[in-house]
Amino acid sequence: PPARLPVTLGERSYEIVVGDGLLARAGALLAPVLPARHAVVVTDETVGPLHLPTLRAGLEEAGFALLAEITVPPGEASKDFSRLQLVLERMLAAGADRRTAVIALGGGVVGDLAGFAAAIALRGLPFVQVPTTLLAQVDSSVGGKTGVNLALGKNLVGAFHQPRIVLADTATLATLPARELRAGYAEVAKHGLLSGERLWHWCETQGEALVRGESEALVTAVLESCRLKSAVVAGDEREESAEGGRALLNLGHTFGHALEAECGYGGTLLHGEAVAVGLGLAASLSARLGHCSQELPGRVIAHLQACGLPARIGDLPRGFSVAALLGRMRKDKKVRDGALRFVLLRGPGEAFTAGDVPAETVERLLRDEG
Ligand code: NAD
Ligand code: ZN
Repeated sequence: PPARLPVTLGERSYEIVVGDGLLARAGALLAPVLPARHAVVVTDETVGPLHLPTLRAGLEEAGFALLAEITVPPGEASKDFSRLQLVLERMLAAGADRRTAVIALGGGVVGDLAGFAAAIALRGLPFVQVPTTLLAQVDSSVGGKTGVNLALGKNLVGAFHQPRIVLADTATLATLPARELRAGYAEVAKHGLLSGERLWHWCETQGEALVRGESEALVTAVLESCRLKSAVVAGDEREESAEGGRALLNLGHTFGHALEAECGYGGTLLHGEAVAVGLGLAASLSARLGHCSQELPGRVIAHLQACGLPARIGDLPRGFSVAALLGRMRKDKKVRDGALRFVLLRGPGEAFTAGDVPAETVERLLRDEG
């Protein structure tokens, strides 16, 4: 039987169901938590042909009617207003009413776009996440954030809209390119570091099996990641704390976003790869500032590299200007008198936000690493 993780977020409780082969039983899993047996599916051109037939059969078996199957081009560019409008118009033209469920079948792009459409169509439709990337299963499908991008920046417009259920079918990950699977693993490793010695040690011993696609390791990682992330989110649903709560999920992301922005989003560097380097840098910075043991950065870097991820700037195929990275990080977070804000580690399970990291320390670290 699949594992079920109960979570309480927003005004309702729901379950994250994790297992191998859930799509074929989707109708039976969804029927008890939805108001009616009609739905629209949103997917992308890559995922649709691979996994929609199984999902469709699973839904039809339980008597669900699919009013529309809406397919968007794959990639970050689909998270925009004109695409959102097309999705809304397709849903409503197909006859969606307040009881029609919106099912997102795809990675984080489809989840964010379809979730936002579900949040605003008719002022809110029931939403179902069926994440098909490791990143979406361990991160973007949990927490209720949905939205689209503006030319000004990513995720600047959106809504909190919790799903009625999440079906994380690890069998869908078999078709995911190995590089995407590894990149998603960076968020699992981040959750391991945030959670504590137990999950971090599990990562160190099982991470390599996971990136080879071993099913048991995938199920455990998705379950443990969702447990960690939903617990963090439950304490700070609307990201009101600048220091604790959801802010800690940004471990590795201040450096990661700077590297990603330098490469251009949707470019040569995947988000998870940038985060992996960011985790290595965050551990190194923590050690330089005397917050954690001198061994921790070596442990983090060695593990990520063993999983085929870059973990130092020197592992990346291009160089970076230290000044440009610092400029990006200043823009990323509020700066007070040349100090920068980072999530740092005292050890696994002991993350905290430091708002007073001297820019010179970061600059020296980047020069030594680059
Ligand atoms: P994605 O949705 O673009 O998927 C990556 C690629 O994999 C795409 O080309 C997709 O077509 C393909 N793909 C997906 N599933 C597949 C499968 N099973 N087999 C083969 N190919 C498959 O990207 P992503 O990494 O899943 O998500 C990134 C997005 O998630 C970003 O837009 C980011 O902002 C968002 N995000 C949101 C949250 C949140 O809390 N809402 C959190 C983290 C990230
Ligand atoms: Zn991330």
